Amino acid sequence: MCLPARSEPEHRGCLVADTIFQKIIDGHIPAHKVYEDDRVLAFLDIGPLSRGHTLVVPKEPAETLDQLSEESAAALGRVLPRICRAVVAVTGVKDYNVLENNGAPAHQAVRHVHFHIIPKPDAKSGLGVGWPAGRLEADAAELAAKLKAALSSR
Ligand code: AMP
Repeated sequence: MCLPARSEPEHRGCLVADTIFQKIIDGHIPAHKVYEDDRVLAFLDIGPLSRGHTLVVPKEPAETLDQLSEESAAALGRVLPRICRAVVAVTGVKDYNVLENNGAPAHQAVRHVHFHIIPKPDAKSGLGVGWPAGRLEADAAELAAKLKAALSSR
């Protein structure tokens, strides 16, 4: 269903399926908001991994980070450290993870870019991370060169 938004940005329309975060941005469902500007909204995660777990989302309805505009990315980058400082100050927990999942296999449940700020008060609570580190392969230099070339065309 395409709900009438309070202020419908021109790039959005009924072709874009509304996610739960778009509904929060549009004011159709409530959230415990902690920060808002023209491009960014932050609110408490409804299923926190630890006290203070906060989500920071662009208002632009991009599904994954690679689809996000530079303007929204810059706006997010500008406020993320500030919101992290607030989470640290209020929770009293100085350690935290910032997580951003892209795609269902990478644990993205809501198809709208969002950064998690997750306090890590102790070994048991907060984010648990599996980190099956390998070794750089023999073609690492070639791989880096390919990435460098790909970046210059994007
Ligand atoms: P991800 O797996 O990275 O897509 O994370 C989605 C996050 O959104 C989860 O941590 C959920 O707890 C959170 N979430 C889902 N619905 C809501 C909601 N209505 N308000 C706040 N957080 C939500």
